[in-house]
Amino acid sequence: MTSAPGNNTFFRHGFLYNIGENQAPMSLTTYHKKRSFDQTPEPQGGTPKGELPIFVIQQHQASHLHYDFRLEMEGVLKSWAIPKGPSTDPTVKRLAMMVEDHPYDYKDFEGIIPTGNYGAGTVIVWDTGTYEPIGWEGQTKKSMEEELLRELSAGDLKIVIHGQKLKGEFALVHTGGKMGEKAWLLIKHRDKYASETDILKKDKSVLSGKTLEKMAKAPEEVYGEKKQRKAAAPAKKPSAKPPVKKPS
Ligand code: MN
Repeated sequence: MTSAPGNNTFFRHGFLYNIGENQAPMSLTTYHKKRSFDQTPEPQGGTPKGELPIFVIQQHQASHLHYDFRLEMEGVLKSWAIPKGPSTDPTVKRLAMMVEDHPYDYKDFEGIIPTGNYGAGTVIVWDTGTYEPIGWEGQTKKSMEEELLRELSAGDLKIVIHGQKLKGEFALVHTGGKMGEKAWLLIKHRDKYASETDILKKDKSVLSGKTLEKMAKAPEEVYGEKKQRKAAAPAKKPSAKPPVKKPS
């Protein structure tokens, strides 16, 4: 047992760093500790394949409705919970509470987290796409990630989002203070995508086309549930069809 808090563990801007001989500065330890994977269909890992960093925003009806904003960095998804969701109005600052790193495969998770589990409720992928640090367009992913980690560590991310709903420049700034050490603010920059129109009225999943309500009624069709069922009954009957290889 080497994970006891000590000299190798510290908080900075609301997230936990584990510095050890064989550990990267960020890990999924907290994510895994909070969940029982025989009881939730949520993903456990995953390896980034894209040539650009990705972002995802999930709408999550848990005990309170919120939006989870996730940015790929160093193989995981840095994550913030935004109670009121993102806004495209530059005069609006949205509180974003930093939460534990999520695995890369969370990017296309939608479905039902069963009652009794952490974050129990319904999840849809509200928006996804690629993103980069402002001024880093056309650079390598490696150099983008170095810059992103520098900005994250400084508590001042300036990014360009290429989503299906959200587009253009955003700032994600650590504030701390009375809202707590994990408090950040998401703010739209003034650019051609800035708008006072409520972007949250676009309420369908960009993956399945389902709203949260529809997803709650049709969980059998979702990514997580299918995987869970396959895993639960591996050798019951031989499959009539040959296994289909996923194009990579
Ligand atoms: Mn959530």
